[in-house]
Amino acid sequence: MESAARSANRDTASVTLVAVTKNVALEHVYEAIDSGVDHIGESRVQEALSKFEAVNTYAAARGLKIFWHMIGHLQTNKAKEAVKMFDLIHSLDSLPLAEKLNKEAESIGKVQDVLLEVKTSPEATKYGFAPDEVATALGQIRNFKNLRVKGLMTIAPEVSDSQEARPFFRLLKDLSSAMPCPVLSMGMTDDFEAAIAEGSTMVRIGRGIFGERRP
Ligand SMILES: *Cc1c(COP(=O)(O)O)cnc(C)c1O
Repeated sequence: MESAARSANRDTASVTLVAVTKNVALEHVYEAIDSGVDHIGESRVQEALSKFEAVNTYAAARGLKIFWHMIGHLQTNKAKEAVKMFDLIHSLDSLPLAEKLNKEAESIGKVQDVLLEVKTSPEATKYGFAPDEVATALGQIRNFKNLRVKGLMTIAPEVSDSQEARPFFRLLKDLSSAMPCPVLSMGMTDDFEAAIAEGSTMVRIGRGIFGERRP
């Protein structure tokens, strides 16, 4: 990350590392925390719930606070639990979900930080707003008083050379141009350098930290 930031003439501190701990055992999450990780990403509410208390307790005993990130598709029936746990939900991908998250956030007196997930390529993911829907969606979500849109998130398609992912990252950045200081959640193990070159402010890394996931 440091060398990618340097090559792009960017400050290393302008890119946040979210360690993706799906399918990762607690002991390895603890090792990551001991190595300086304080942002944790999970893609399923159920799995996050199973780790949340233990990880927070481990961190608190060391004087640390963990920031929890929801990065996977969120079903509306999990919105209540999600709002309780996550500092940032990267995967806001529909208006019905926005409505539900807003309602659940309101019921616990929270303003929930979210990112709009954008489908920057047709093949990469099933979820997310199409690029030409983003401006309208942002306008509609602005009416939800208990949601705060901090920026955009995307998953680039799998490509043989990570440089080929750059146009998708560039598109996400372009779509954020009307937002003040947007969070751009883009870049994973195989393409984070390309994402940092295109202005990523948040990379989501699983295998690059913890090794290949066991199913
Ligand atoms: C699993 C996952 C990641 C991390 O992927 P790696 O290739 O292991 O770095 C990042 N973002 C999302 C949305 C994921 O589901």
